Amino acid sequence: MTLWLLGTHLDRTADYLDDHDRVLLIESTAFARRRPYHPHKLTLVFAAMRRFRDDLRDRGFTVDYRQAETFGEALDAHFDAYPGDDLTMPRPAAYGAEDRLRGLVEDHGGHLSFVPNPTFLLTPEEFDEWADSRNTNDSDTYRLEGFYRHMRRDTGVLMDGDDPAGGEWNYDEQNRETPPDDWEPPEPPRFEPDEITREVSSWVDAEFETFVDSGEAAPFRWPVTREQSLDALAAFVDARFAEFGPYQDAMVEGEWTMTHSLLSASINLGLLLPMEVIERAERVYEVGNAPINSVEGFVRQVLGWREFMRHVYRRSMPEMADANQLGQTADLPPAYWTGETDMTCLSEAVGHVREHGYAHHIERLMVLSNFALVYGADPGELNEWFHQGFVDAFHWVTTPNVVGMGSFATDVLSSKPYASSGSYINRMSDYCASCPYAVSRDTGEGACPFNSLYWTFLREHEERLRGTGRMGLMYSHVDDKDAAEWEALEARAEQVREMARQGTL
Ligand code: FAD
Ligand code: SF4
Repeated sequence: MTLWLLGTHLDRTADYLDDHDRVLLIESTAFARRRPYHPHKLTLVFAAMRRFRDDLRDRGFTVDYRQAETFGEALDAHFDAYPGDDLTMPRPAAYGAEDRLRGLVEDHGGHLSFVPNPTFLLTPEEFDEWADSRNTNDSDTYRLEGFYRHMRRDTGVLMDGDDPAGGEWNYDEQNRETPPDDWEPPEPPRFEPDEITREVSSWVDAEFETFVDSGEAAPFRWPVTREQSLDALAAFVDARFAEFGPYQDAMVEGEWTMTHSLLSASINLGLLLPMEVIERAERVYEVGNAPINSVEGFVRQVLGWREFMRHVYRRSMPEMADANQLGQTADLPPAYWTGETDMTCLSEAVGHVREHGYAHHIERLMVLSNFALVYGADPGELNEWFHQGFVDAFHWVTTPNVVGMGSFATDVLSSKPYASSGSYINRMSDYCASCPYAVSRDTGEGACPFNSLYWTFLREHEERLRGTGRMGLMYSHVDDKDAAEWEALEARAEQVREMARQGTL
């Protein structure tokens, strides 16, 4: 019996490793050719798989490591060596993957069954039990907050008996400070590539079309082993965690990480487990080394959002991938692909993606998605862009975040869009200070592009949005504008769109 592990199943602590005769790992070049991924993403996944293979062998496991064009070719070779073998795999998270992989294995002469995936806290059955106890049509109950409280109670994380530690369930309002002018975040850890990583990186450069040429990206620095990922976790809780809470939503020019943990790729690959990072955060709180708004803010992301997204995606597919309730169809502006724009906010965020395959949550949501949303970009194309550009991107996580949360292409995750004008970015960052556009102006040459796009977006989608939760205040401002203001806003929005299309914004 063989345990077949994908590149997202690299948990060296899993019990099921001991229940099998050998481990099968397949590097498929066709998989990596499906889309032009960021070179750091391909290097990370393949280097992590090779290091995982070596680690397993060092620990006495038999590993059948196959490098092939397709999974099918590798399975043929595997079944030639082990005819009629039974394979087991942790449940993959991508929609339809279980059926596809089971069919593929059967076509090549074997049998595939699934075990729970340790990179998630809840099994599908456990989440469905919670969700089915809710009315999924009722926006108050089938939402993150209800799920998150359920998870806190169920796991006992950050609980003081029956009450939330610190007295509140959610310290979101204490996650919105901006740092003083002279503040600099501690340097995040850098993991120097070893020989295997360097070899993979050169192979990726030679073999694949990528999101950016590796010369345009920063030097590779991501953790590729469990030890390095544990070091990354330690570096986060020791140096950046205390300020993570207050500055969680802030953006500073030239700072690509702020105080974010940079752990998503390690968790998504199985190098770190969600509960161990949560427990580590909790211990830091217990010894008084981080305030409650940092600890709760972090726990909410991993215990709440990450699990919620994974299961809402599972339950909403396949419709979610093609959802487009606002009927948005514009092509993404070329600036997303080239990084060339005078808008400081967009230039910073796209630059971070191009250099590192990473941008932190607020840049993802309130710059990259927000601009695409008010501009009218096709949610499917935006999802594809995120999938190509980020080191931590996988279908199960980009689709709900980009299509659901960022594009409001479905209302399954939120009752209102995350749309804002430049004033939000001005409040949460220092970007506007150096930007050639004027955040204080909505219309005319030189006005912040976000502003006219935002107001015309609200007007265009009024029928869908006016009645939805918490949009009342925004529509009272819409109602205050007279015909002349609308004419100027429409003219500026059209000019901005044309400049964006031409790549001159
Ligand atoms: P931190 O800010 O330090 O957060 C801690 C951890 O919480 C993350 O490592 C991650 O595991 C988890 N987390 C936080 N928010 C979410 C969320 N909304 N969904 C799932 N997990 C979450 N996350 C990905 O892992 N891959 C993606 O491709 C991805 N694409 C996104 C696209 C958009 C438009 C948005 C709005 C969010 C996206 N996210 C994605 C979620 C989140 O932005 C990233 O997990 C986070 O920015 C990763 O950086 P970090 O590890 O420094 O996170
Ligand atoms: Fe972005 Fe507008 Fe601020 Fe410039 S002025 S950084 S375009 S929000």
